Amino acid sequence: KFRALVVNKTEDSFTLNVQELSMEDLPEGEVTIRVAYSSVNYKDGLACSPNGKIVRSYPFVPGIDLSGTVVSSADSRFKEGDEVIVTSYELGVSHFGGFSEYARVPAKWVVPLPKGLTLKEAMALGTAGFTAALSVQRLEENGLLPDQGKVIVTGATGGVGSTAVSMLAKRGYHVVASTGKSSEHGYLEQLGAKEIIGRDEVSDTSRPLQKELWAGAVDPVGGNTLAYLLSTTKYGGGVAVSGLTGGADLHTTVFPFILRGVNLFGIDSVYCPMETRLKLWERMGSDLKPEGLLDSIGYEIGLSELPDTVAKILKGAVRGRTIVAL
Ligand code: NAP
Repeated sequence: KFRALVVNKTEDSFTLNVQELSMEDLPEGEVTIRVAYSSVNYKDGLACSPNGKIVRSYPFVPGIDLSGTVVSSADSRFKEGDEVIVTSYELGVSHFGGFSEYARVPAKWVVPLPKGLTLKEAMALGTAGFTAALSVQRLEENGLLPDQGKVIVTGATGGVGSTAVSMLAKRGYHVVASTGKSSEHGYLEQLGAKEIIGRDEVSDTSRPLQKELWAGAVDPVGGNTLAYLLSTTKYGGGVAVSGLTGGADLHTTVFPFILRGVNLFGIDSVYCPMETRLKLWERMGSDLKPEGLLDSIGYEIGLSELPDTVAKILKGAVRGRTIVAL
């Protein structure tokens, strides 16, 4: 028997609580893992809410991220005692996830823990950190360099935002952080932001082309903020969009693209190819590893505190990355 957070929905009820499960309750998969840590992402907030439209069948164990130690493997690539990370694919969506002391997953989802990270640090990064790293990598593949100007990060105190600010600062960029939390300016400065602007300053969509301000942008917010970013990105610059906390609609014009050669990069962590995934996790343990990852960005909770945190993340009220110890 072991403990897991179970979400259940029937025609007339919705429940979210810690329950005891047994190994037979776990889904099929070659690799069984004693989970050490999970983390809380925006998508987990959706999975734990009655109208989130993320979970495909109930009862269900959410958690799109996990790190832990292999207890048994029917695949020769992994053996008992190996430290591993699992994120993305169907984990925490249609396959029981990381909010559980044990997990069983297909071997093709498993990433060996990179040398530069502990199991806990890997979850301080998790899907949010991986998405930030993908965004930074995509912008740099487009030619972004620190001497080209300011790089803006929106939703900066969130999971993707905090890790992006820190990764960009470490790589020498002049980072401008945009946030709706006036109380968290000190936090963002500690992560390496050089300037902090309000959330309300990044949503003016009145003109299709505005003053060129940013050499690049990491945007987990979307909506009007994304339209604003496109209209203020410098000639040839890039915007990496990964999220929709500010809205899913995008109202823009072709002008930033055809008059300034602005590039819009779509960032998807879920089906990112394994080859890219493995290389990027290595980088997240080395040149992209945020300074003070556990001290400033990470905040640890236990399984029983999860229901409160998942409710908070949907309101945009969580700072940094919440790590779940199992
Ligand atoms: P998070 O920790 O909750 O961060 C979201 C941040 O967005 C908040 O902390 C807040 O930051 C800001 N925000 C909240 N409500 C807002 C609003 N109404 N308008 C503008 N900004 C708002 O969530 P996360 O886990 O980092 O995920 C962020 C987004 O990225 C989500 O939409 C998520 O689904 C998406 N995502 C996508 C991928 C992918 O593969 N494409 C992967 C991971 C996440 P401030 O208070 O600092 O403004």
